[in-house]
Order: sequence, then C-alpha cells, then structure tokens
Amino acid sequence: QFFLMRFGHHDVVIDPLALLDGVTVGGGKAGLWVEGLRMASRPWGVELPEPGTLEPGLTINRADGEVVSRFSIGTIFPIDIVAVDSIDTFWERYLPVLLLAAAVGVVLVAVWIYVVFRVSRRHLSLGAELREAVRQDRLFVVYQPIVDLATARIVGAEVLVRWRREGGNVVNPDVFIPVAESEGILCDVTQRVLDKAMQELGGTIRRDPEFRININVTREDLEHGELPDRLARTVAAAGLPPGSVNVEITERSLVASSEASSVIQRIRRQGHAVSVDDFGTGYSNLAYLQRFELDSLKIDKTFVDTIGSGAANADLVTRIIEMAHSLELETVAEGIEHLEQVKWLLAHGVSRGQGFLFGRPMDVGSFKKTLARSKSA
Ligand code: C2E
Ligand code: CA
Ligand code: CA
Repeated sequence: QFFLMRFGHHDVVIDPLALLDGVTVGGGKAGLWVEGLRMASRPWGVELPEPGTLEPGLTINRADGEVVSRFSIGTIFPIDIVAVDSIDTFWERYLPVLLLAAAVGVVLVAVWIYVVFRVSRRHLSLGAELREAVRQDRLFVVYQPIVDLATARIVGAEVLVRWRREGGNVVNPDVFIPVAESEGILCDVTQRVLDKAMQELGGTIRRDPEFRININVTREDLEHGELPDRLARTVAAAGLPPGSVNVEITERSLVASSEASSVIQRIRRQGHAVSVDDFGTGYSNLAYLQRFELDSLKIDKTFVDTIGSGAANADLVTRIIEMAHSLELETVAEGIEHLEQVKWLLAHGVSRGQGFLFGRPMDVGSFKKTLARSKSA
C-alpha cells in the first residue's frame, strides 16, 4: 500500500515500508504512522511507543534516559511521527542552540527595555513629571524666618515650595513654578503649599496669634477666581484667624493680571494682608501702586545688595523706601546677608527683614527650633 499526498503543485507517493526502513538519525529512532490507513513504518528491530500512548510534543522519559517526541499533522489521514532519542544526544544537539537563543532573548529584552525607557523619558517632559509629582504629593515646603529688624525676633515665615524629584534631587521653585504656570497647575501647587503650611505650622500659629505666614501667589492664582474662597476655607478648616496667613504677589503678576485689583480687595476684606513681592524689579511706580489696596512692600534683594556698596544705583533703595512710606505701606527687606544692611535699613525706617543673616529656608523641624530660640533670646 502506498500513501498518496498532494501538497501545492507536488504529488507525493510514500512507500511506508521504505520510508524509514533502517534509517536512524545520529543514534535516534523514528517511525511514521498514518491513522485511518493503519499504515506504520518503523526501522527493523526498533521498539517505538504507539502514538496513541503519547502526549503530543516532547516527553522526557528519565527512567530510560530517552526523549520521546510525537508530532501530528492533521490532514485527511492524520499522520503521526514518533521519534526517540537519548537524552544525552538530545542535549548535545540542542543545548548550544538553546543557549544561543536564550542569550539572543536576553539581549533583545534589554534593547527593548532601553528603547522604551528612552522614549518614555523623552515623552515625559518636565511638565508631565511635575503633574505626576503634584498628584503624588512630592512637593514640600520650607520656611524662611521674617524678623523684626530692631529686635531680630522672628515674627513670621515665608513659605517656599520645593519639589523632590524621583531619585531624590530637589528642584527649586525658580525652575518649576514657570513650568507649573505653563501646565496650568499652579493653583493646585498654591493649594498644596497652603495645606502643608497649615498642617505643619497650624499648631504654632494657634499658640502664638501674632505669628504670620506668607504664601506666594501669582497671576494664575489671581485669575483662577477661587483664591479668596480657597484661602478662607483652608485657613478656617485649620481653626485659624484669616490674618495669620498673608499673601505675597510679585510686582510682575500685579501688572499682568486684570483681576489683581478686585481679587486683592476681596482677600484683604477677608482679613489677609497683601504684600508686593520683588518690589523695584518691575514696572511699578507710585501712581500705579495707588490703584491697589496693599499692606506692605518687599524690597527686592538686588536693592538690598547695593546698601553700603557705593554702587551707582544705591540711592534707588532710598527712593523705594520713601515711596512705600508715602503710600503708608510697611516695608520688608529681602535677602539681608550682612549686619551693616540691617543698621542701614533700620536707620531708614524699614521695620522687617528676611535673609540668610537671620535664617535660610528650612524644614519645619528646624524652623520650630529656630523660632523657640528666637523667643527665649
Ligand atoms: P521670593 O518670593 O523672592 O523668595 C525669596 C527667595 O530668595 C527664596 O528663594 C529664598 O531662598 C531666597 N533668599 C532669601 N534670603 C536670601 C538671602 O539672604 N540670600 C540669597 N542669596 N537668597 C535668599 P527660593 O526659595 O528659591 O524661591 C525663589 C522664588 O520662587 C521665590 O522668590 C518665589 O517667587 C518663587 N516661589 C517660591 N515658593 C513659591 C510658591 O509656593 N508659590 C509660588 N507661586 N512661587 C513660589
Ligand atoms: Ca516671596
Ligand atoms: Ca521676593
């Protein structure tokens, strides 16, 4: 009996008796069964298990030290091929291939991980990363003392935000506040800063009602519309009077926001004091400032730096102080690093100050210790 097959344009005639007669491959043994036709071919004198007794694929028969394979092809007459090999020959033949395949696999996976990492890093811009950081609460705040210049006692603190990136390095607000602005998430940042300050210093303020904290807000906060309500809600939830939280608005934001005047009015009616930050660096002049209801001016560090330096623009700081006084605003000097500056500022009627001379921005633990020392001094 012959077995006839057609595959594509090929016609095949198989003589089952001749097929594998006496053929052994590298000491292995193989046989062919055609189910339905009850044809079988196996080498003479070779014992092979019947396909019906085997699982398809490879079976390792440790007892006899053999690898038995059964492969089935589902044609009209299903064909089974059963082959038996010794385990040793099997490994000898396939181990190098398996090892090579494993090595290639590892390399491919590594390349894939590298490519995915590079591509996602590029796509995860600073903005996206910041968004994620805000969501995951990776922003934290530090406090810089604001002192009464005459006594050097701490009367308040400016709350300054920081971002701890994955990997641990800390990013300063100069870098990421503009990113938060362009991502439209600055109001969320402001809310987080306020929440943190309330959490960390709420108790301190409750015990010392004279103590004030300042938070920084920008044009976005003014235009978002919810700033006054958010302030009121958060401060009330902490059980504090509104006056314990003051707001600093940079001169630039004042100029840029059409809402500034009305928002400032609302905030002040609620009981918060409002300060103009970085005063002197922008466009503000006397006539302009008169349009706003304000409480104090923060004289920017660049002017404080000129004190006692004999620099050409050193008398600008005198003019700024005069301007503030004529508007009946309190003055706060920023970036004080030397005692001579304190003396000069006091002599010119500046009552409050802030700078590395009195304390760098610090975490809440250090700040509380510094505050306690300041009180007992
Ligand atoms: P700023 O409001 O003028 O804050 C004062 C900055 O001057 C702080 O930098 C502070 O570390 C630094 N500084 C204070 N005293 C000295 C001094 O004696 N010498 C020197 N060299 N530097 C001093 P920081 O914390 O990096 O903040 C930079 C700016 O980022 C702030 O300027 C403020 O405009 C903005 N910023 C900080 N926190 C926030 C925030 O929570 N919200 C918003 N919208 N802006 C924030
Ligand atoms: Ca400020
Ligand atoms: Ca400032």
